[in-house]
Formats: sequence, structure tokens, C-alpha cells
Amino acid sequence: MTTTREYDIVIVGSGAGGGTVAQALAPMVAQGVRILVLEQGPRLDDHEFTGREDEMAPSLYEDGGGFLTADGTMTLAFGRLYGGSTVVYTGTSLVAPEHVIRSWCVPGLEHADLQRRSEKYMAQNQVHYLPRVLLNENNKLFFNGCHRLGFRAEQFPLNLDGCKGSSLCNLGCPNAAKMGTHRVQLPEAERQGVEVVSRAEVLRLEERAAFVRVHEKTPGGKGRPSEWAPGEYEVKARMIISCGGSVGTSALLLRSPVTAGLSGLGAGFTCHPAHILVAEHDHEITNDVGHPKSYYLDRATEEGFVLETCMYFPFTTAKNLTGFGAEHSALMHAYRRLQMIHVLACDKAVPENRITVDRSGKAVVHYTFTNAVVKSMVAATRTSARIFFAAGARRVHAPSADPPLIDRQSAYRLDDLITEAHFLPGRISVSAAHLMGGCAMGADSAGVTDSRGRVRDVPWLRVADSSLFPDSLEINPYLTIMALADRVAEGVQIDWRH
Ligand SMILES: Cc1cc2nc3c(=O)[nH]c(=O)nc-3n(C[C@H](O)[C@H](O)[C@H](O)COP(=O)(O)OP(=O)(O)OC[C@H]3O[C@@H](n4cnc5c(N)ncnc54)[C@H](O)[C@@H]3O)c2cc1C
Ligand code: SF4
Repeated sequence: MTTTREYDIVIVGSGAGGGTVAQALAPMVAQGVRILVLEQGPRLDDHEFTGREDEMAPSLYEDGGGFLTADGTMTLAFGRLYGGSTVVYTGTSLVAPEHVIRSWCVPGLEHADLQRRSEKYMAQNQVHYLPRVLLNENNKLFFNGCHRLGFRAEQFPLNLDGCKGSSLCNLGCPNAAKMGTHRVQLPEAERQGVEVVSRAEVLRLEERAAFVRVHEKTPGGKGRPSEWAPGEYEVKARMIISCGGSVGTSALLLRSPVTAGLSGLGAGFTCHPAHILVAEHDHEITNDVGHPKSYYLDRATEEGFVLETCMYFPFTTAKNLTGFGAEHSALMHAYRRLQMIHVLACDKAVPENRITVDRSGKAVVHYTFTNAVVKSMVAATRTSARIFFAAGARRVHAPSADPPLIDRQSAYRLDDLITEAHFLPGRISVSAAHLMGGCAMGADSAGVTDSRGRVRDVPWLRVADSSLFPDSLEINPYLTIMALADRVAEGVQIDWRH
């Protein structure tokens, strides 16, 4: 049996986009507008964030963080809970580069407008620089290594309040210090009367209606039961705003008869493919203490990559190391002496890389590493190896070298050892967490949406999330997603008045 409910505005998803829209529209509730957020994941209570990798990953991420692309050569990480990926993000807060927004050529979208809106959310999310005394050794080694090579590492602004430096950000902060939408925008929206229903998966959209399945809490699983009784619902709405993320929104619209035929839907997927690189030092390095990500080196314009400091947990680190057996084991036993760098390639939208759905409606992401991406990742690995050695590392693990372990004595041969020929998709562990595109903003027929997130030919439907990006952003995206979602919400308010 299907239960019917009616609202004025339904928001699908509660991450960077959905949380922003919910808060921005919340004042309309006082004018009698009924607003509902439908989130497919659970709502976790503070005490449930234990920081344990084995129990948190399945509770926070789609497929436990191991969602595979169609050919199995890359894993995609994205959140599936109240707050979406903002619960698991690291909190680095950068404003979109002007040249990237200009290159997107989206009519009506100005960099100055995005900057102003980003600054509003930086203030709301308490973005600031960590004082130097709080930076851990991994971050200092990166800075020093860059400095010795003549590179200028920049410090990340972070959105934290009360950070205790437990380094567990990607497992959801156990200290309630990270200012994701689950902490800031969603609670504020709910205070103003926006309803949020968790465990509510939107299966498809039909004319001004969302078809929803509310799931039962799994025995022993984390999170509260849903606010609604488990079962099937038809939620009628005057307007629906899809904020399911790049993969979630693209798949939902592809499953929906009202939008499935839109040309351009699912196209233009980019994700900043990434490696974790490690190097072994002679002494222990404080990396599991302190905030993990304080510095980055932006080589996007020159060489198509960005390097960031990082700290990954034992399982994630182990799966990222190329090879197996005694050498792999020796490196993992040196875990406390490992310096870590996260390498991100600035990929470009190409026709092969797109999101589709299979016959059951599940998202399938097709991704091929272009020559340009391989070149960038190899260049990034060489530069990282130089930084590691300049910081004093004894040996470096470079996935695109064979064998992957490079000793200090061989440091002068990095260009010969780390090569594109050794970048073998499937053999090298690549993962991505900056998922972008699928419902690109644009003027021509390839554009699914306009710069206010209005879906072509479907006046009651908007998109407000990372799927709007027509190409990659070349930096960490959450602030830009919030700025775009803020624009979409403003457009909704204007259209509502008229
Ligand atoms: C580990 C990790 C670290 C990151 N670190 C940073 C960082 O430091 N800085 C930065 O700028 N960015 C970072 N990011 C990226 C950033 O978090 C995302 O780009 C951003 O949150 C995406 O926002 P979104 O609204 O598009 O999607 P999400 O935040 O992923 O939210 C989408 C929500 O929609 C829900 N949903 C999807 N489909 C449906 C459906 N059919 N029905 C109901 N609900 C649905 C999902 O469950 C999810 O909760 C990180 C991401 C990850 C995974
Ligand atoms: S480092 Fe700070 S923000 Fe990250 S999990 Fe620990 S307390 Fe939370």
C-alpha cells in the first residue's frame, strides 16, 4: 500500500547542497510553506561516532566507501546519511578559482557572486586557519619538503569548532567539531520548521511527485529509526529540488520518466582521481594526532594536479599500497613512521566519463583515465617523491613505479622510475571523493540545468548539488556547492513569489 503525503517543497538529499537549500528556504515555513527533506541514509547520534574504521565506514558511506566504477579501476567515496558527504569530509574550505568559473561559460554565473556566497558560508561554518602550534609533524614535513624544493605550500582554511586533533575526520568527527550541514544548516532548518525524514530513499520522480521507500532500521546498525513508518510513499509537491549529489541526483533523474530523456543527463562526470602516497622515515611521525589536512600545493594550472597532506587509516592505507606479501607487510608495520601525501588529478569532462543506471535503477559510473590524467598523476607522484625525500624520508612508495618502493639512493632517478608505462589501471589503487557533474549547468542542449538549477523543460524541478558542475573545479568543492545551492534557493524564493 502506498501512503500519500503533500508538501509545497521537497528537497532530496541532505548534504552540502540539500542542507544549504533547506536552511536558505526555512524562513518560508513561517509563511505557511511546508518543506520536507528526504534523506536515504540514517541520522546518527553523537555517541555513535566512535572513530572505529570497521564500524563507521559501512554506516557513513555508500558501499562502505568502496563504490566501484564500471570497469573496477577506481573507488568513489560519498556519504549516505543525514548531512551527506559533509559528515565525512575533511573540512578544507576553498573558494572556487576565478579562471575555472570563467572557463565554464555558464550564462548568468559570475565568480564574484559565488565568492560572496562562499564567504557567507565560511562565516557560518567558522572557517579559520589552525594556529601553527596545532599543526602535526606530517603537515610540517610536507611544508618543509616543499620549501626546500622552492615550492610554496599554502595552508588550508578549515571549518572547525573545538577540534581535538583526533585525525578521524573521514570517519565522522567523534568530537562534534566539524561544521558540516548535519551540525549547522540542517539543525537550523529544523528549528525553523523544515521536516527531515531519514532512511527515505527517493526511487523516482513523476509529475510533481516523489515516490519514496522508507527503510526499516537494520538490527544492530547505527542511527535512529526513520521519522516515518517503513513503507512506500507518494509525496506530492509543488516544487522538488534534487540534492542527491553527483551520482545520486543523476541516477534519480535517469530513473524518472519525466527527465530520463534529457540529453546531457549523466554526462560530464569528473572526480579529481586520487592516490595516497606514503614514504617511510627513520623516526615516528605524529600524523594520527592533529588535524590531518593543513597544507596543499596547487600545481593545477602548471601540471594538472594538486597535492594535499593527509592521514589515512590502516585499512585504507593498506588497500592503497601497490603490491602484496612481505614488502607490503613491512610497510604497514612501519605505519607510525609513514609520511602521507594525497595526490589529486584535475581531470576534464570527456564524453566517455558519464553516469548511467542499470536495469534495476542503480547508478553505474563509467570512468576511463585519459592520457592527460595519467600524465598528471605520474607528474604528481614524481613531485611528491621529491617532497618526501626533501623532508628526509628513507624510502618512498610510488604506485606508478615498478617495483613501487624507491630508496633514497635512487632518488636521482625518479623520472626514470616513475613513468606512465607503470600506471596500470586496476593494478594501481585510485579513489576519488570530489564527485562532480551529471546535470551540468549550460546554455546549449548539453546543459541539463541553468545557473539557478532549473531543469530544462521541467519547471517544477531544480537541482542544487555537485551534479551542476559542467567540469571539474580543480579544488575542494564543498564551498562552491553551498554557494551554488544558495543561488538555487534564492531563485526558488523569487519564482515562488511570482
Ligand atoms: C572522504 C571525503 C572527504 C572530503 N573532503 C572534502 C574537503 O575537505 N573539502 C571539500 O571541499 N570537499 C570535500 N569532500 C567533497 C564534499 O564533501 C562533497 O563534494 C560534497 O559534500 C557534495 O555535496 P552534494 O550535496 O553534492 O552531495 P552529498 O554531500 O554527498 O549529499 C548527497 C545526499 O543525498 C542523499 N541521496 C542521494 N540520493 C538520494 C535519493 N535517491 N533519495 C534520498 N536521498 C538521496 C545521499 O544519501 C547524501 O546524503 C570530501 C568528500 C569525501 C567523501
Ligand atoms: S581532527 Fe578535529 S575535526 Fe577531525 S575528527 Fe578530530 S576533532 Fe574532529
